[in-house]
Amino acid sequence: MKTNLQILILIFLISSVSTIEVDAQKLAANAQRTVAVTIDDLPVNSLRNDVTTQTTITRKLLQAVTLHRVPAIGFVNESKLRTNDRLDERRVALLRMWLDAGLDLGNHTFSHPDINRVPLATFKEDVIRGEEVTSGLLKAKGRTMRYFRHPFLHAGNNIETKREFEKFLAERGYTIAPVTIDNSEWIFARAYENALMRGDKQMAKRVAEAYIPYMDEKFAYFEQQSMALFGYEMKQVLLIHANALNADYFDKLAQMIEKRGYKFISLDEALTDKAYTSPDTYAGTAGITWIHRWAMTAGKGQDFFRGEPRTPAFVLKEAGIEAE
Ligand SMILES: [Zn+2]
Repeated sequence: MKTNLQILILIFLISSVSTIEVDAQKLAANAQRTVAVTIDDLPVNSLRNDVTTQTTITRKLLQAVTLHRVPAIGFVNESKLRTNDRLDERRVALLRMWLDAGLDLGNHTFSHPDINRVPLATFKEDVIRGEEVTSGLLKAKGRTMRYFRHPFLHAGNNIETKREFEKFLAERGYTIAPVTIDNSEWIFARAYENALMRGDKQMAKRVAEAYIPYMDEKFAYFEQQSMALFGYEMKQVLLIHANALNADYFDKLAQMIEKRGYKFISLDEALTDKAYTSPDTYAGTAGITWIHRWAMTAGKGQDFFRGEPRTPAFVLKEAGIEAE
């Protein structure tokens, strides 16, 4: 029989070993996991177009982003800076809030067209038109616009268009902003806003409470996908949107990401990962993660892509969307 003292020592040893192990795991995770946060459809993607609502959404989103010290980049659709087809300085002021918070801005085209549906010449014109205001704001801060994000993540449904557009971007000084942690956050956001506008606070809460675990699963999935393709966890790039859902829940989202052992980094830093130099010949109609573009280019079979988390049926229904 053990004495009380022996039992106490045993308990102490067991508990201290497990504490050390947990700390070591945390440390290892902290050392290796990094993610850049990219936020699309600036100034705001909302069904509510009035300046007051959009200012509130921007202020709340930037508060949470700043609280977690996230060096985020926002991608602008300048068509959203207009009221009755005239440039609205009150909406331009929303972009200044991003720059004043120390964040970066990139081009997401003027009016969010689909490269797979309009002539390439028209699409290019929309990119150029999308530079006018934002590049001026950046210039006033001694900076330049450096990144382009494809609307719908559509990069051309044939290799000729894709390559020609890439050449155009490079000539105008743009670097493509890829996405690795792709997700259907925009569906959750639409469901959330639909519920809010109907005054159904309970449903809005239910959608938001499903959002964080869904994103947690997405992170786990793309961590695995990176391991499977490259043998290590790459510096990830997350895509979300400037919407009411993130204005209210980015704080919780960032907490989840931090709990997974991530450090927030800039897009510049993420793209130093050699994974981003992988060949990409994908020229389909889908707007998918770059990890899967690289995997398809490398000839991975169907098995590779299995297990991607799905949006819950009640969220799709509330968003009025039939399928992902
Ligand atoms: Zn977009």
